[in-house]
Amino acid sequence: MDRNDPIIIVGGGLGGLTTALALAHRGRPVRVLEGAPEFGAIGFGIQFGPNVFHALDRIGVSAAVLEKADAPPAVLMIDALNGREVTRVATGAPEFRARFKYPYIIIHRIDLHNALLDACRRDPLITLVGDAMVARFDESGDGITVKTEDGRSFQGAFLIGADGVRSRMRAQMLADGDPVPNGFMAFRTIVPMSEVTADVQRDLVALWGGPGFHIVHYPLRHGTLFNIVAVFRRSAHSERGDVAAYRAELEQAYRNAHPTMKALLAMLDLRRRQAVGDRDPIRHWHKGRVVLLGDAAHPTLQSLAQGACMAIEDGCCLADCIAESNGDYEAAFRRFESARSVRTARVTLESRYIWEVYHADGIAREVYWQMLGERSEADTFQCLAWLYDGFRLPDKVAPNAVPLRG
Ligand SMILES: Cc1cc2nc3c(=O)[nH]c(=O)nc-3n(C[C@H](O)[C@H](O)[C@H](O)COP(=O)(O)OP(=O)(O)OC[C@H]3O[C@@H](n4cnc5c(N)ncnc54)[C@H](O)[C@@H]3O)c2cc1C
Repeated sequence: MDRNDPIIIVGGGLGGLTTALALAHRGRPVRVLEGAPEFGAIGFGIQFGPNVFHALDRIGVSAAVLEKADAPPAVLMIDALNGREVTRVATGAPEFRARFKYPYIIIHRIDLHNALLDACRRDPLITLVGDAMVARFDESGDGITVKTEDGRSFQGAFLIGADGVRSRMRAQMLADGDPVPNGFMAFRTIVPMSEVTADVQRDLVALWGGPGFHIVHYPLRHGTLFNIVAVFRRSAHSERGDVAAYRAELEQAYRNAHPTMKALLAMLDLRRRQAVGDRDPIRHWHKGRVVLLGDAAHPTLQSLAQGACMAIEDGCCLADCIAESNGDYEAAFRRFESARSVRTARVTLESRYIWEVYHADGIAREVYWQMLGERSEADTFQCLAWLYDGFRLPDKVAPNAVPLRG
């Protein structure tokens, strides 16, 4: 592997940009190919556990992210039928910060993306190429060539597929089909805080869990915006509904919900909805000169709010593995997989379990509520420690590896 050949990253999302920064910090030139005309995010909110800051510190963007973020006093789970609190994580308590070192944050995706993009644009080792939808890759003995849909070719030492949940790089490498839908749909909306009429707590993250549906809401941009995600089990009848059909379907799914939830539903933008799904975890995300990360490798349900955190941790870990591999990229990819596969699989599998808890019905619901209600703060912190304590990035740097810059 020639150290001067650029590494090609397909996908300029959160995982791709983090990987670019982490590799550039290790002295490696990278070229990021993004399919959308502009590098940017879909404009909704995102939550980050404290674990993500171990990685963001590493690429030097924590301060820029914190400036735009808010730290909610708590993450609440509320019974969506009667409005009672089921459990809470006191994310704003001094004990939380003392235990996990970093805050729990909520941030507008656009602000987060811009923090990463600004850092990428300042780095001479990173080339960003927009409007470059990659159609396929071809390996030769000493490198990789990718072809875009509009016929351009780019060459590099190897390829990192960070092209998200419907990854074409994964399809070419593994041919294992699409992610598996779990039967739920999600609507996402942001409204100005001044337009929120529902009787809700506005300064924290609230998750209302009900049989077959849930809503998450939280403020953004220092309380000026309000982010809502509404999820429900799809009925078999309106596969391709218009707004009126979606409204009818939502009203049916939420018919027994607390009045506050119905007030939240009235605020939703129903023009676009998204199917929810994930994949069974696998151990290997590489073949030859191609390796996958983030949602391309291990898409998860959003119940732990950790998909993007995992993509960001992946990026830093992969860059370290490459920097320490002494040119043996296959060894780097194997080390990356073994460092990351169990942690990301645990996120996927625990997210499925929590999804079941949120949406449980009947006696199962009462059992889960009782279990959650019995937890002390110390128990909750202990349950989250494997995740929020962060991922220990390899700290042993081989003698001939390029040192971190700056
Ligand atoms: C409703 C919802 C709520 C969520 N909330 C949270 C949360 O609170 N916290 C959290 O950590 N995670 C959350 N997630 C998960 C998170 O959004 C994803 O895990 C994360 O965006 C994955 O990052 P990625 O870089 O792997 O992929 P993406 O962010 O999807 O980026 C992929 C990029 O690749 C580009 N691309 C795709 N194909 C090609 C191609 N062929 N050629 C070139 N470019 C291509 C795309 O345009 C895109 O820019 C949520 C997800 C959903 C659906």
